[in-house]
Amino acid sequence: MSISERQCREDIVRICHLIYEKGWVAMNDGNVSIRLNDSCILCTPTAISKGFIETDDLIVCDMEGSKIEGRRERTSEIAMHTTIYSMRPDIRSVVHAHPPVATGFATAGRSLDKALLPEVIIQLGTVPLASYGLPGTPALTAAMMPLIPDYDALLLENHGCTCYGVDVWQAFFRMEMVEHFARITLVAELLGGARPLPRDEVQKLFEARARYNVESNAPMRPGMPIVAEDVVSSRR
Ligand SMILES: [Zn+2]
Repeated sequence: MSISERQCREDIVRICHLIYEKGWVAMNDGNVSIRLNDSCILCTPTAISKGFIETDDLIVCDMEGSKIEGRRERTSEIAMHTTIYSMRPDIRSVVHAHPPVATGFATAGRSLDKALLPEVIIQLGTVPLASYGLPGTPALTAAMMPLIPDYDALLLENHGCTCYGVDVWQAFFRMEMVEHFARITLVAELLGGARPLPRDEVQKLFEARARYNVESNAPMRPGMPIVAEDVVSSRR
């Protein structure tokens, strides 16, 4: 085992323990992977709590999702990971979990698509909702595929959240941002409704990415994210 693979194993285990401690998973929920090279990925296996996983529980799979190495069995969600890696050469890690507030939005059939917080707009643009697909089947990945090229954080309807990044830490912090954003949005709604920023301010935030060295494909499109003018026009 190379030093870098050993480091990747330690990083995945650390992230799994954090996901568990943050309450983003229950039972055997969630899975985490790192792309080791062009032909294989290191990932969490099926049927294990992320709170108690250890480095030698991890398995190595090829880019078709078949197991190459490891004593445990692969997760039924491996295709979610291989699909993202095949569509996004820039991505080296995928984190999937069920953080409760973000998953609450996904279960209500709602994306986190309002332009509310500068940091979220700069980092993620918006967090779209992939329509429901039976977990572990091509229906799940088919619903995600149209969104994968442009976005780095997705809600999965009636299921959970998937984030990805250049490394496992970026993927993890993106999920942390999604769950934090979901909590703030929920509080704003309890207080009478979140009020999106106006279009020109949102435009400035998209343009500010270069200044903050943020790399994101997420474009500013009509209604994505929803800006103040969209809300006013829908009320007419
Ligand atoms: Zn899941």
